[in-house]
Amino acid sequence: MNLRSVALIDETNCIGCAICIDACPFDAIIGSQNFSHRINYNECPGCKICIPKCPTDCIKTVDIKQNKNDIKEKVKYNFARKEARKNAIEKKSTKSINKQLKEIFEI
Ligand code: SF4
Ligand code: SF4
Repeated sequence: MNLRSVALIDETNCIGCAICIDACPFDAIIGSQNFSHRINYNECPGCKICIPKCPTDCIKTVDIKQNKNDIKEKVKYNFARKEARKNAIEKKSTKSINKQLKEIFEI
């Protein structure tokens, strides 16, 4: 079986800022604000995007014995879900800004 890289959080140094959750394009990080976070290795393709975002440098990668194909479908699904969520939030925010601008200029 091949080795593949996954991210791992050192929970003793995690401050629960949740920056990594926003940064992860594959929705592979679990955690609530102010509590230590964890990475679901079955959903992490090891892209390393979260590593430089962490303010306490507590994310690193480790190699695990697992075939990349085992997680392929889940990773694709999570990526599409995150993109859809981001787009929905952006749409909602644009709508709210436009509504506020309209109210301001109509006064
Ligand atoms: S390495 Fe990539 S996929 Fe894995 S947790 Fe970090 S940002 Fe998410
Ligand atoms: S960015 Fe780092 S400190 Fe912040 S929640 Fe993620 S792992 Fe923890």
